[in-house]
Amino acid sequence: MLSVSQLATLAELGEERTADVGDVLYGVGAQSYPFIAILEGEVAILDPAGHEIIRHGPSRFLGEMNFLSGQTVFVTATVTQPLRYIAVDREVMRAQLFEDGALSGLVLSTFIARREALQTVQGVGLEIAGPRSSAATMRMLDFARSNRLPFSWHDEPVDGAAPVVRLPGGAELRAPSVGEVSRALGIGRMLARREEVDLVVVGGGPAGLGAAVYGASEGLETLVVESSALGGQAGTSRRIENYLGFPAGITGTELTSRAVVQARKFGARPATPYQAVSLEPGDGRHTVRLEDDHEISARAVLLATGADYRRLPVDDLAEYEGLTVFYSAGPPEAQLCGASRVAVVGGGNSAGQAAVWLARGGALVTLLHRRADLRETMSDYLVRELERYGVAVRDRSEIAELHGGDGRLEAVTLTDGERLPFSFLFLFLGARPCTGWLGDTVARDKDGFILTGAEAHADHLLETSVPGVFAAGDVRSGSTKRCATAVGEGAMAVQFVHARLGRTQAARPASV
Ligand SMILES: Cc1cc2nc3c(=O)[nH]c(=O)nc-3n(C[C@H](O)[C@H](O)[C@H](O)COP(=O)(O)OP(=O)(O)OC[C@H]3O[C@@H](n4cnc5c(N)ncnc54)[C@H](O)[C@@H]3O)c2cc1C
Repeated sequence: MLSVSQLATLAELGEERTADVGDVLYGVGAQSYPFIAILEGEVAILDPAGHEIIRHGPSRFLGEMNFLSGQTVFVTATVTQPLRYIAVDREVMRAQLFEDGALSGLVLSTFIARREALQTVQGVGLEIAGPRSSAATMRMLDFARSNRLPFSWHDEPVDGAAPVVRLPGGAELRAPSVGEVSRALGIGRMLARREEVDLVVVGGGPAGLGAAVYGASEGLETLVVESSALGGQAGTSRRIENYLGFPAGITGTELTSRAVVQARKFGARPATPYQAVSLEPGDGRHTVRLEDDHEISARAVLLATGADYRRLPVDDLAEYEGLTVFYSAGPPEAQLCGASRVAVVGGGNSAGQAAVWLARGGALVTLLHRRADLRETMSDYLVRELERYGVAVRDRSEIAELHGGDGRLEAVTLTDGERLPFSFLFLFLGARPCTGWLGDTVARDKDGFILTGAEAHADHLLETSVPGVFAAGDVRSGSTKRCATAVGEGAMAVQFVHARLGRTQAARPASV
């Protein structure tokens, strides 16, 4: 609910309007809408089929995450009682959210909660049609999940190449790339074929976003390229309990959304989905090439590509992935798994968090891990939470085989031969660095993590073996694999970028 003083502030920023019963304030497929705060009357929010999801009355406001991101609208807002409201232009409101902490806190957390709720409403968002045997269809589902988009999937053959993607509003795309869908939804920023910036940050997880906030706020023209969804691994976390300043914990979605708003506030440009495919070091400027023939020329590069989840070494895993085997646990998965037998595999904190979240959603959860005692790898507070929410823990358990068919898991066999019935698996097996695309341009350790500082014979702590190319976060050899350290390293890398660029400038002849 907006306070009286917040409504007064909004009244100064926007204009007061009225609407009659039956008027549509915005509809499915719209590209944008103003911020709407209700003074009198009532508005119903409807899904694309016209079913009511919720009603809002006086002192409440409309909207969800797409108000900020500019994504296509997924629902319709219809007046159900004569309405007097304040409408504030989107750009004016965004500027106000940068300045007004209390308002921004209220609006952001409400928008995030509404997006989470929308993800559980059937028939809202994208419609994706294509069979599970189609890799492109599975990639599209992955993209929708990682970007926290509401979607429904029709597991069926389609005429021609799969998938067919129906956008909110009805437009249909046949066998589109995730980039095309992203941009059609208004999520992704369109990059020019060639961009020239001071700093290009590759990877939009906590390290990349940390660098974006500090780089842009300290005057560097900063571009962040991200191949899937801003937020990285942290964006998939149900609750980060150990992040400074959030004693009650914060969800990955909220932390990410706040960071993206903050980065944009300072003028950083996040661009998704763009995958970096090569790095070509140069003299004074480096080139990062992206898929689809885009190139970024930058005075400094920050590698913040983090790590990817490890897969289970069993046959037929791919047949189940995205259907009954997952690598993160969000609201759609929790809804899918209610009252089912679920195994969460892994001994780290991320496995513990997922197990608790799924158990709280009503699933019957067993945590499988390979060590003798979970306390060797998981924080004590989480071990206690597992007990509290009735999660069964099986020590020294490793999966050797999956049983089921057509993507539906029925059971697993452990390496000791025991067979256990599970309908869903959630895998949290640690991660592998996303550095394959770098070839041998920068020095790496035996596991593929990027060497920095003295180990790379570099001038600066976070500099790689290539002067002007830095690394931060999980992708860096020896880093502490934590959210706060990734953010801290991203921020710190910017200081070294300044030092390097200052030196480059000083070394140039005056005429250049
Ligand atoms: C489920 C889960 C729960 C967690 N919970 C906690 C917690 O409670 N507390 C805590 O401190 N830590 C937690 N962590 C760990 C924490 O999230 C990571 O340490 C942190 O996200 C690392 O940040 P990063 O920016 O270095 O890398 P990442 O978060 O891995 O981000 C890297 C980004 O780079 C992108 N990328 C990769 N390759 C390319 C490319 N070629 N081109 C463009 N983009 C690319 C990826 O898509 C990704 O978005 C958790 C992790 C997981 C998975």
